[in-house]
Amino acid sequence: MTTNKRAAEATLETLHQIFTIPEAPDSTLGRIEAEISQNLNGFLAKSIVATEKPLSEIEKDFAQSHIPEQPQYVSDHTHHLLDKLISQSVHTSAPSFIGHMTSALPYFLLPLSKLMTGLNQNLVKIETSKAFTPLERQVLGMMHRLVYNQGDSFYHEFMHSADHSLGAFCSGGTVANITALWVARNNLLKADGDFKGVAQQGLHKALQHYGYQGVAILVSERGHYSLKKAADILGIGRESVISITTDSHNRIDIEALEQTCQQLEKDNIKVMSIVGVAGTTETGNVDPLVDMAAIAKRFGCHFHVDAAWGGATLLSNKYRHLLSGIELADSVTIDAHKQMYVPMGAGLVVFKNPASVASIEHHAEYILRRGSKDLGSHTLEGSRPGMAMMVYASLHIISRPGYELLINQSIEKAKYFATLIEQDRDFELISEPELCLLTYRYVPQAVQTFLATADQQQSLQINKLLDKLTKFIQKSQRENGKSFVSRTRIEVDKYNGRKTLVFRVVLANPLTSKEILQDILDEQKQIAATSLQHIQSLLQSINA
Ligand SMILES: *Cc1c(COP(=O)(O)O)cnc(C)c1O
Repeated sequence: MTTNKRAAEATLETLHQIFTIPEAPDSTLGRIEAEISQNLNGFLAKSIVATEKPLSEIEKDFAQSHIPEQPQYVSDHTHHLLDKLISQSVHTSAPSFIGHMTSALPYFLLPLSKLMTGLNQNLVKIETSKAFTPLERQVLGMMHRLVYNQGDSFYHEFMHSADHSLGAFCSGGTVANITALWVARNNLLKADGDFKGVAQQGLHKALQHYGYQGVAILVSERGHYSLKKAADILGIGRESVISITTDSHNRIDIEALEQTCQQLEKDNIKVMSIVGVAGTTETGNVDPLVDMAAIAKRFGCHFHVDAAWGGATLLSNKYRHLLSGIELADSVTIDAHKQMYVPMGAGLVVFKNPASVASIEHHAEYILRRGSKDLGSHTLEGSRPGMAMMVYASLHIISRPGYELLINQSIEKAKYFATLIEQDRDFELISEPELCLLTYRYVPQAVQTFLATADQQQSLQINKLLDKLTKFIQKSQRENGKSFVSRTRIEVDKYNGRKTLVFRVVLANPLTSKEILQDILDEQKQIAATSLQHIQSLLQSINA
C-alpha cells in the first residue's frame, strides 16, 4: 500500500495508520497542504470555480443518506472534496468579496488552527485544557480592558479568580448575546426569601414571586435577530423583544425608548434589558450609548451592548470615540471572527461586574466542582475548542496599533466608496458609512431626477421597479462570480419609510483596492444596461 493510498480497507491496521502516519508530501492531501500554506488565496482562486451552479444542483451531490460501508482512500476522498465541495464553495477571502462580514484571514492562522485541532484541548474544564484555560481568561481580560479599562489591580484580582469571570468566550455573537441576557434575566429574577431564583424555579414562579406581568428586552428595529432567539430560549418569548423606532441614521430614537420604558412600567412589565447596538448588521450604525445607559440606570435594568461586528473599532485610538458610552454597559458582545480577522467560531461577551456571572453558575460532580477554575461553570456551551488561542495569537502578532491600521483603513475605504457612489449620478447612497459598512443602489440619473419631485404614488411605483432592478443586478453580479455585494431591505426615510431593497457592502479585506471598488460599480452599471426590460419599464413609468 502506498502512503498516499491509505485506509481503503477497514482493518485495525489501516485504522492505526490514520492515527499515526501523516500524509506523504506527494499525496493529494499533502500537496494541498503545501499549496495552501504557501498561497491560500491562489489555491482558493484556482479551486473555486466561479460558475454559479444552482443550489438545487449542488444538493444532488449531497443526497446520499447511507453512511458508507466501503472505506475510501484519503487521496480519493480528497479529490471528491475538491470536486464536490471546495469547487462550489464561496471565495469569502477574495478582495472583491465585499458583501458580508466574513472576509480574509492572515496566513498564520492556518497552521495555528491545525495545531489547535491537533492539541484538541477542551476548554470546558482544566483537566483537558491546562494552559488554555488561563490563556482564555487572559484574552477575556484584554478584551474587558479594551472596553472598560479598569486598573491593573482590578485585572490582577479578577482575571484568574475562581469565583469571578470577566466574560465568556463562545462560538459567536449569538451565543454571546444569549449569555449576556441569561445573566441579565437571572440577576433580575434572583433568589429572594423563599424563592430560589429563576434558574432553579423557572420563569412562571419568578414572575409570580416578583409580581410582574412579564419582562421585556428593548432594542432598536435594527437589532440583530439573535436577540429574539435569546428571548425564545430564555422563556420570555420573542414578542417580549420590543422594537424601538430609529432616526434617519438608523439609531434608536431615545424619546421613543424612554416612552416605552414608562409605558411598560405602567403595565407592570419589567424591562429586563435595554440593548444598544454598536454597529448594526444591516447599516453599520451606532446607537447613542451614553443616553441609553442613562435610561437603563433610571429604570434599573441591565444595559447590554451588542458590538458583535463594531466592537473591534475600540482597537483604533482614532475611531474608538464612535463607540463612546460602551464602557457604561453591564455587558458587551464582541465577535473576534468579524473585524478581528480570526476564523469563525470566536465570539465573546465581557461583563463590567466580574461577579455578575455567578447568576448562571453551574456545578457538576465530576467536573466544574465548586471553587474550581473550570470555564464550563460559566458558559452556555459545554465542550469547546481552544479558539481563544487564535485571538491571543492575533492580538500579539498584529498588536493593537496593527489592528488600528486595519480598522482605520476599512473606515476610510468605506468613506471613499461612499464618495465614489455619490459622484456617480447613476447611483444613490442610501446609508452613509459610520464605520465600514454602507448601503446604496443603482438608480439611473433620469429616474433620480424624476423621483426628487414625484408624488407618493409615483414614488411607490418607481421604487417597486427599482427593487426588481437591484435584485437583478445583485444576483447577476454574484452569478458572474467576479465580485460580490449583498442585499438587504431597509426602511428609507426619504421614501416615507418604505422598506427598500439596497446593496450592502462591508469593507474589511485590506486587499480590497480602490480600483476594485470602481470595477464593482462599473460591473453593476453594465449589468443594469443589459437589463433592457427593467430599464424600459422604469423609463416608461417616468414618462407616463
Ligand atoms: C453578527 C452579529 C451577531 C451574531 O453573531 P454570530 O457570530 O453570527 O452568531 C449579533 N449581533 C450583531 C450586531 C452582529 O453583527
